[in-house]
Amino acid sequence: MTERGSDPGNAGFAPETERLAEQSAALEGQSAEAILAWVFQHWAGRRIGLSSAFGPEGCALIHLARRIRPDVPVYTIDTGYLFPETLAVREAFRAQGADIRVVEPLVTIRAQAERHGPDLFARDPDACCHLRKVEPMRRVLDQLDVWITAIRRDQAATRAGTPILGTARREDGSLVVKVAPLVAWTRKDTWRYLLDHEVPYNALLDAGYTSIGCEPCTARPPGDDERGGRWSGTGKTECGIHHL
Ligand code: SF4
Repeated sequence: MTERGSDPGNAGFAPETERLAEQSAALEGQSAEAILAWVFQHWAGRRIGLSSAFGPEGCALIHLARRIRPDVPVYTIDTGYLFPETLAVREAFRAQGADIRVVEPLVTIRAQAERHGPDLFARDPDACCHLRKVEPMRRVLDQLDVWITAIRRDQAATRAGTPILGTARREDGSLVVKVAPLVAWTRKDTWRYLLDHEVPYNALLDAGYTSIGCEPCTARPPGDDERGGRWSGTGKTECGIHHL
């Protein structure tokens, strides 16, 4: 699971956070394509990969990144609770030649139910997300020096301060560069890109869903809040991977 078959490991790559802040500020106002091109050039030889759950932004990002680096790996977590429509779009990208790397939780849904009782998502969604999303994402970070993600600042208040270049922390405390090339995009920008480039996207987005995660925790949003259909009525807004 390493870029170009070589594994420099975590050693020898320690992003300087002050320098990153300067570089991030310098990239503000540049196009997503220019940001990605800079990242691939600046960290050439490092382990660079995307993560995606195949939301609309993720689909746009995969397409955009593959125009620059067709073999960029795309890590995706299969929680076991994904919609068939999500699996279909994942396979559509794979059919186009994308290097899709599926990461699964360490525990099956059945083992989780035996240990914690059935339907943990309904009783303790934070614990369920930790087992089925956060822990697998930690293993993805062990494979990467540079993690590219598709979050946008205007998706949620919790994402409003997202820098273009930031960091995420591995289990051992070391840092990975976290890149968010689409931070300045709006939902409209995302759809313009998807439609202009005929990018595959989740069929549920044509059926009233605006943000799609696991089936038990995803509904059509009740109002204008794009992420309002996620963990509806629980107060939970994030699965936790963007807090790493
Ligand atoms: S989104 Fe729901 S089902 Fe999926 S991991 Fe989180 S709590 Fe569990």
